[in-house]
Amino acid sequence: MKQIGIMGGTFDPIHIGHLLAAETALDACQLDEVWFIPTNVPPLKEGVQGADAEMRLRLVRLAIAGEPRFKAHPIELERGGVSYSFDTISELMEREPGCTFAYIIGSDRIHDLPKWHRIDELAERIRFIGVERPGEPVQLNRLPEHLRHRVTLVEMPPMGISSTDIRRRRMAGRSIRYLVPEPVYSEITKEGLYEPRRND
Ligand code: ATP
Ligand code: MG
Repeated sequence: MKQIGIMGGTFDPIHIGHLLAAETALDACQLDEVWFIPTNVPPLKEGVQGADAEMRLRLVRLAIAGEPRFKAHPIELERGGVSYSFDTISELMEREPGCTFAYIIGSDRIHDLPKWHRIDELAERIRFIGVERPGEPVQLNRLPEHLRHRVTLVEMPPMGISSTDIRRRRMAGRSIRYLVPEPVYSEITKEGLYEPRRND
């Protein structure tokens, strides 16, 4: 069986925190591949979205080009609507019987696991690989026992980076260089993404 890590997110935009989390999980849990799955409409997120789905996917592809074990999978964009991980994992398990899946999540998402759609069924099907984000110390005891046991924590160098921070920096005219891989940086600046709109 191939072991696949699923890295789901809005990736608005993808940054080096996502890439390091994926690499850390791959290395620590002996995964064969990590599949990056951009969310179409996130269920638990409110507020403004920066780039459209096609662009978010393009940035993911640019970020992972050259690493054959990292793949972009537009399954949630193709399905459309609100993206529930339960639906995605169910579909992947059906389509890819030769693979087992683990979901890679940062500590913010570890703590909101109880709110996920059909979480109990999801947690019966897959395990979670958790990484800590600075400012959000992992507290597994906040989770009900049946979920806590499904999370394996892996150590990664703390990366105090978020897409929200990157979008804010762009709005304020500040640099995001080195927070995202070079080809992503070039595309964002070339396309003028996340800049304040001029005609408002
Ligand atoms: P936003 O600020 O827009 O929510 P984000 O940086 O949190 O963006 P997401 O696309 O929401 O990125 O996150 C995708 C996944 O990556 C989530 O599981 C999240 O916890 C994880 N993640 C994001 N940034 C980091 C980071 N710096 N370190 C570890 N995990 C991260
Ligand atoms: Mg987030």
